[in-house]
Amino acid sequence: MNFLAVFRNITLIDGTGREPIANAAVAVRGGKIIYAGKAKHWQPSYEEDVINLDYGGKYLLPGLIDAHVHLSRSGEPDNQFKVDDPDKAQGLGSMTLKILSNARRNLAAGITTVRDLGGWNELEFAVRRSIQRGEFSGPRLVLAGRFISSAETGADHSKGMCRIADGVEEVRKAVREQIKNGADLIKLGVTGAALVEDDIPGATHFNEDEIHAAVEEAAKFNKHVAAHAHGMDGIRQAVRAGVRSIEHGTFLHQGSDVIEDMSKRGTFLVPTLKASSNLVSSDLAKVSRRIVDKSIRGDRVKSLRLAYEAGVPVAMGSDAGTPLNRHGENGLEIYWMQQAGMKPMDALVSSTSLAAKNLGWDSQLGSVEEGKAADFLILDENPLDDLRRLADKKYIRAVFLDGKLAARQPTDSYPKAILAKDCLSVMD
Ligand SMILES: [Zn+2]
Repeated sequence: MNFLAVFRNITLIDGTGREPIANAAVAVRGGKIIYAGKAKHWQPSYEEDVINLDYGGKYLLPGLIDAHVHLSRSGEPDNQFKVDDPDKAQGLGSMTLKILSNARRNLAAGITTVRDLGGWNELEFAVRRSIQRGEFSGPRLVLAGRFISSAETGADHSKGMCRIADGVEEVRKAVREQIKNGADLIKLGVTGAALVEDDIPGATHFNEDEIHAAVEEAAKFNKHVAAHAHGMDGIRQAVRAGVRSIEHGTFLHQGSDVIEDMSKRGTFLVPTLKASSNLVSSDLAKVSRRIVDKSIRGDRVKSLRLAYEAGVPVAMGSDAGTPLNRHGENGLEIYWMQQAGMKPMDALVSSTSLAAKNLGWDSQLGSVEEGKAADFLILDENPLDDLRRLADKKYIRAVFLDGKLAARQPTDSYPKAILAKDCLSVMD
């Protein structure tokens, strides 16, 4: 890919939080950004094959990053895995295809980087290898492997997704296993869950020495820990043990000292508002009453607002895959974060440069700046005027991954050289 692609006639929202730049240009070579800024300052110094892409005043922003999804679930109302025959090759095959299809649904919606926090029987690693070999297009996948849990009802409920570990030595072993399988980070279930029928979200499942062991073991391999935690006691212990992020953080509002500590340490909050927002606004007849009652949206909104005001870094995570929370609508999480009190630009940055920082990939991803990967989302209208546009297929013009067109409106035509091998339709 030696050609130079120049995106012209765009308003650039670069993902750093800077004001949008009108009449901008972005130049890309070999999958990397070589220029981003005012069009009048762009001066290619030599002749070469150039593909000019004139977007007629549309908006170019970084491809979005979703820090919390479950590719092995598709939003089934009962929150159960639909595996035809989990112990047989056919069942494994159909789950692999489901993971791949959900991954591609994310990419077609402009989510160019997806972090899966609880896969299924390591099949997500097979899907990633297939994408990396170029057999299928798909987003960048950041994988946690199995969710490490203590022995409890939720773990039984999620067979294939969980690795049960009790005691410090078991936790260390479970961490090593995930890393051996190819995990980029560790997901630890510190408290009970809202979306598991018999779980108590406030209950702490791991002791501080176990959480500490997970953080320490992961750090040996230069990996970090994302802690699933709803209850205040579990959140407090996880932050103290040095986890990178608190996932959900439902009752964080009960501990102003912990909010302060997170702000000081730079511990991320991934509030996953959409998982509960979907439940309060969708067809509830299909979802168990106990799960709906536990999906306490008000608490999460309050916790996010207090954390945001205190300067805790926030990363976008839609929890896509949970009941009625479908892959491809992830961007709505950004809208819900704004509704909870974040400024529109800050909500967007939590899915771009700040999200990349949460992953530890901010030197390569998350903003439209020189040297970074050319992952872009192109929208017809300004997303900052209405953040729901980020998830509205009517407005998504095109998605680029590593400088190649990964998804487009079905009616748009492009030069062949810039198309990814199996370019998707944003309408899929
Ligand atoms: Zn989750």
